[in-house]
Amino acid sequence: MQYLPLFVKLTDKPVLIVGGGSVALRKAGTLLSAGAKLTVVAPAFATEFVQWQREGNAELIEGYFSPGLLDGKLLVIAATDNDEVNASVFDAATARNMLVNTVDDQPKCGFIFPSIIDRSPILIAISSFGTAPVLARRLREKLEALLPQHLGPLAELVGRFRDRVKAKIKGFAARRQFWEQVFDSDVVRDVQANQLQSAAQRLEQLLEKPQRQSGEVYVVGAGPGDPELLTLKALQLMQQADVVVYDYLVSPQIMELVRRDAEKICVGKKAGAHSVPQQDTNQLLIDLALAGKKVCRLKGGDPFIFGRGGEEIQALLPHRIAFQVVPGVTAAAGCAAYAGIPLTHRDYAQSVQFITGHCRSDGSEPDWASMQSANQTLVIYMGLMKSAHIQQQLISAGRSADTPVAIVENGSRSDQRVVTGSLQQLAMLIEQHQLQSPALLIIGDVVKLQQDLHWFGTKPQTAVFGQTLTQMD
Ligand code: SAH
Repeated sequence: MQYLPLFVKLTDKPVLIVGGGSVALRKAGTLLSAGAKLTVVAPAFATEFVQWQREGNAELIEGYFSPGLLDGKLLVIAATDNDEVNASVFDAATARNMLVNTVDDQPKCGFIFPSIIDRSPILIAISSFGTAPVLARRLREKLEALLPQHLGPLAELVGRFRDRVKAKIKGFAARRQFWEQVFDSDVVRDVQANQLQSAAQRLEQLLEKPQRQSGEVYVVGAGPGDPELLTLKALQLMQQADVVVYDYLVSPQIMELVRRDAEKICVGKKAGAHSVPQQDTNQLLIDLALAGKKVCRLKGGDPFIFGRGGEEIQALLPHRIAFQVVPGVTAAAGCAAYAGIPLTHRDYAQSVQFITGHCRSDGSEPDWASMQSANQTLVIYMGLMKSAHIQQQLISAGRSADTPVAIVENGSRSDQRVVTGSLQQLAMLIEQHQLQSPALLIIGDVVKLQQDLHWFGTKPQTAVFGQTLTQMD
């Protein structure tokens, strides 16, 4: 972090501006809106400055900068069109340990003016520290559009109740739950409709009779890894939960989006590696919910596709714990899209089968015979370790040894790797490329399309006649 964002109370604080032209004017306007007491030194002034002086908002000194003008000032702005003057202001102020902003000269800035989104009392400041102003501006426009105008009045209303809520509801967690309840209630709708009195009455009622907080479990699919593949609902619940129980498939970038002060519990789950037994995970969810917590059970992909979401919910039922299920982009859909492999295609595949490569504990096998048809795409989850067996079983069941296959490792993530070849090379490719979990196997003629439809990440590696070549443009 190159600069620390701070919100500074400038009301009646003395600020010196060196320069009287249009650049200085912009900064002066921002500073005045924060209530600063301005002293402006310049040989000549834009007319607005003269007006501000008349209104008692600025003191103008006609002349040139001298270090004595820094006495007693909190901040300094060097805003002349002369680099030498600006440099001398910067040097003199820095020598006194004062914070200086030199307009359009980032190395000579001890502080900067960010772009501001003002929904007072909610304020958002954005900066790229001079590296990408256009990007910062676009971001600001997006946020402007995203943030409803009623945020300001809502924050104001809530602010009026803050002390009373603090006095009445003891404990940080209980207060947070109360506010969550408020923001989920019709108070927000009333503020939106500009019915501020009714909103205040509703808030009053909630404070008089806060509802007992009961626990709930949100079983949420987090998608294959790219955080932008999260659904809006997933994000919302990740932000609402008191506790997030997640497994190894949930990418660190996604965990970054969980509410900062939520408790985070990892329950592992990597085939073969140590992980929390399923029964313990079930019990954990039950215990947390019965303790009144909002629990987000965050899972890679979709919770109902090889995700044990069903089992976990079944465990909640005898305890009458409320739950919601949020679907996610399953690995098959995510990896196929990011590898440029349509799972069905009118010319190549009319159906698709999702299969787990992880056998049941009783050792029963999938129905290999049902997978022999050339116009069916097979997507195999957790198939890495059993790839030799899968390859052999499919070929014995009658699937052509030349059927194209793709192995997608870390699908949709920045380190995605895609290796393609034929079914008879499957195990060899995994070995040769040292492909690691999580990886998905896609088998079928649709894999051929990837040569034309590839768009994401590094070029796929393609095996031709047993050799492995990196595909060229
Ligand atoms: N519920 C998950 C699947 C969990 S099973 C879903 O709907 O996607 C775990 C298997 O999913 C892994 O072994 C791997 O085969 C596959 N998988 C999950 N995320 C993946 C990713 N980003 N890239 C490749 N495979 C992935």
